[in-house]
Amino acid sequence: MDTSAKLIDGKAFALGLRGRVAVAAAGLKAEYGFRPGLAVVLVGEDPASQVYVRSKAKATQEAGFHGVEHKLPATVGQADLMALVARLNADPDIHGILVQLPLPAGLDSAAVVAAIDPQKDVDGLHVENVGALWNGAKGLVPCTPLGCVLLLKDRLGDLTAKNAVVIGRSALVGKPIAALLLAENCSVTIAHSKTRDLPGVCRQADILVAAVGRPEMVRGDWIKPGATVIDVGINRVPTPDGKGRLVGDVAFDEAAAVASAITPVPGGVGPMTIACLLRNTLTAACRIKGVPVPAV
Ligand code: NAP
Repeated sequence: MDTSAKLIDGKAFALGLRGRVAVAAAGLKAEYGFRPGLAVVLVGEDPASQVYVRSKAKATQEAGFHGVEHKLPATVGQADLMALVARLNADPDIHGILVQLPLPAGLDSAAVVAAIDPQKDVDGLHVENVGALWNGAKGLVPCTPLGCVLLLKDRLGDLTAKNAVVIGRSALVGKPIAALLLAENCSVTIAHSKTRDLPGVCRQADILVAAVGRPEMVRGDWIKPGATVIDVGINRVPTPDGKGRLVGDVAFDEAAAVASAITPVPGGVGPMTIACLLRNTLTAACRIKGVPVPAV
């Protein structure tokens, strides 16, 4: 079955967004003489984190931002890490601070996140930003959830009155997606590992978001015909050649046969995260500088 018309191409959307952010950044430089500045802090040698940080650095450069990377050994002390965050908070050329999580064992990530100036918290994880999101106030929104909602609005337009089911209630993904969908006037159900009759709950969804971390858990018969499916999951499953393969939380072929639109893995939600990080840094920079935030 040809599912190409149903594909939500996050890769293409993210590329477009990054291009618009770059144009906006060039405009800020020309009009106000500053570049958005992003500092990424990587502690330790976690290979997945190193890959993320490298792509973030590349994207920052391509967008014409001022970018700095701080690589610290896994043995760094909490006090030294906090001191770096304090320096970045005080640095007028830095408008976004991202500390790559998870931190190595022994470091208190909650304390680090709490120490970041909320105006520079481009990951949207500081309690002040979490509170702002749930209160409908101006803040910074976590990147992956923002990316999911941008894709949904691009595909569906107004989301008002849609039944949305979000599987997953993490602070990083599930909860902020639910808050954003609520703000878009969806009726939102948050499902999790203790939810009774998960397939039945999912079948109510006009919009189904899976943010679980379980390969292909959501099956075709969990999907309401015509629903829009956003698959946040990134899971590596073994293949005979030993290289492994990335799959989402949704059994793609089965779901695509029933849904009206669906994000693939890879190439769906994944590329939106970095694009939204740049968008957040642009927003943070404009707010800190007191200039209008360009629409991107
Ligand atoms: P997480 O912190 O492990 O949270 C997983 C959530 O799924 C929890 O709320 C858990 O419920 C729920 N869950 C687990 N098993 C379940 C089951 N059998 N039925 C129903 N719910 C179940 O993971 P996360 O950080 O939110 O990430 C979720 C997925 O998104 C992962 O695959 C991750 O790699 C991916 N991700 C992708 C991006 C990106 O695209 N850029 C960014 C972040 C994360 P309980 O709360 O009850 O335990």
